[in-house]
Amino acid sequence: MAPNLDPYNREITYLRVSVTDRCNLQCVYCMPIQDLKLLDHSNILSYEEILEVIRMGVDLGVRKVRLTGGEPLLRSNFVNFVESVNRIPKIEDMSLTTNGVLLQDMAEPLFEAGLRRINVSLDTLDPLKYRKITRRDSFDAVWKGLQVAEAVGFSPIKVNVVAIRGLNDDELRQFAHLSMQRPFHVRFIEYMPIGQNSNWGPEKHISSDEIRSKLETLGSLHKIPHAIHDGPAERYRFESAAGEIGFISAMSHHFCPSCNRLRLTADGRLRPCLFADDEVDIKSTLRNGGGQEDLKEVFQEAIARKPRRHHAEILVRGQSARPMSTIGG
Ligand code: SAM
Ligand code: SF4
Repeated sequence: MAPNLDPYNREITYLRVSVTDRCNLQCVYCMPIQDLKLLDHSNILSYEEILEVIRMGVDLGVRKVRLTGGEPLLRSNFVNFVESVNRIPKIEDMSLTTNGVLLQDMAEPLFEAGLRRINVSLDTLDPLKYRKITRRDSFDAVWKGLQVAEAVGFSPIKVNVVAIRGLNDDELRQFAHLSMQRPFHVRFIEYMPIGQNSNWGPEKHISSDEIRSKLETLGSLHKIPHAIHDGPAERYRFESAAGEIGFISAMSHHFCPSCNRLRLTADGRLRPCLFADDEVDIKSTLRNGGGQEDLKEVFQEAIARKPRRHHAEILVRGQSARPMSTIGG
């Protein structure tokens, strides 16, 4: 049996790595405004420890690694770390999810470190609304960051938009135009009930199907076939558009049967499912002198504990005790 097969015959090839729980934004759907407990620095894995976990994952069959946070660009020496990940043989796809606030200065060094694929979270094209969503005034910085990333040569540049009814569902035309005029992949992500204090409520959920039918009133959307290492996004393109439109429907059309991922939290826990708080502690093994066999055992235990599916479509808030900022999205 392949060493990375879970009990439901899914091959685990994708590791999402959160390098920090810190963030320079405080998005209403992600970070609680109060009761936010930050990790003590001593509990955060060092880069060397993270690299050990990634290498073990790669030995077992991981081929795709995404770096995330909190805000990954906040962590010091992050560019050197990216360079180290890029040097690990057999990784076929390395990518980053960032809020883009620090991207204008970091895009070029990150590109030089070997990064090519980048996801920038931007839920609105309106600076005032941006402040309402993120509780910070950083719209211009993110917008400039996107321009620099494009100029430096990142491809693809994905723009992640968490779709929230009553908040940004009046901007579909603007996002559609963005995908037509620029080579950006605009991806609508369904709002998920993660974290006890997130502002989630069923009335704010808006399904990908609803967004797609609204977008179709602006022009016909042509389906793009899946490519290797594509995630769960359904991809489309408007006629002659420079970019794409994507839909990530974790709630309305869960993609659990094809789930191929594990998450590593900044405090050294392997999380088999985004929606379930079951986690496997790998930090203790790293810090108590565990050898390769021990690490392998812990990694495989996390694979073995992947549930068949989540049940987040049963619309209840707080399906995870941790806020999203500490899981990595
Ligand atoms: N700070 C980085 C950023 O914002 O891109 C990386 C971490 S963030 C937790 C990763 C992704 O999770 C972002 O695209 C963010 O929009 C998304 N996210 C956070 N909370 C969410 C929620 N409740 N539902 C859906 N997506 C969420
Ligand atoms: Fe920070 Fe990203 Fe969460 Fe926003 S979504 S608070 S940028 S971690």
